[in-house]
Amino acid sequence: MARVFVITGPSGVGKGTLIRGLMQRFPELELSVSATTRGPRAGERDGVDYYFLEPEEFERLIAAGEFVEHADYAGRRYGTLRSELADRVRTGTPVVLEIEVQGARQVREAMPEAVLVFIAPPSLEELRSRLSGRATDDEAEVERRLRVAEGELEARREFGHVVVNDRLEDALEQLTQILARELGHAPGRD
Ligand code: ADP
Ligand code: 5GP
Repeated sequence: MARVFVITGPSGVGKGTLIRGLMQRFPELELSVSATTRGPRAGERDGVDYYFLEPEEFERLIAAGEFVEHADYAGRRYGTLRSELADRVRTGTPVVLEIEVQGARQVREAMPEAVLVFIAPPSLEELRSRLSGRATDDEAEVERRLRVAEGELEARREFGHVVVNDRLEDALEQLTQILARELGHAPGRD
């Protein structure tokens, strides 16, 4: 039974929000903490939201083969450390990765048993409004992310599951059904 779940899709589509909902419904699910070279946003904590690394340290870890996948996104580096997955895969602990499309492709190659879900926005206009509404990125960064999103949206067909995050509750329900099937049981809490 699949135990590695990859939630991918453009920035601002609602991946993080949906994953928080999933983790409430499936308390055994653990989140893989990614490494990044971008700086922390207000309230983000090192080792909890991300491992915030200097570019040199990130490069050193790539050279040492420490990443399952890594990618450049909007001028920064992001990646999943092998150490985030190894023990969980060994013990069968279900783990969820929230990563962009290039990384999701690499996981698909490296771990064919992983379940990949692409989260799509109802429209680019709605994506823009969510990115601006989140108020974590300035206008230039929002534009950069939207430009990347146009390419990412073309990749949706590559993934086994596509969930359109229009109404949050509907999208969460669809994701819950995918996980329930893969984990072999109904959600523990609602
Ligand atoms: P991501 O993790 O994909 O970058 P977030 O989870 O941070 O996206 O969501 C981006 C913004 O959109 C947040 O402000 C979130 O509250 C909002 N949001 C998420 N899902 C929906 C939805 N279905 N309808 C409206 N707003 C949403
Ligand atoms: P943000 O800067 O908004 O936290 O993340 C930007 C993008 O990078 C998002 O699409 C997010 O899903 C993605 N991302 C976060 N962690 C990783 C990772 O470990 N690997 C890859 N490939 N992408 C990631």
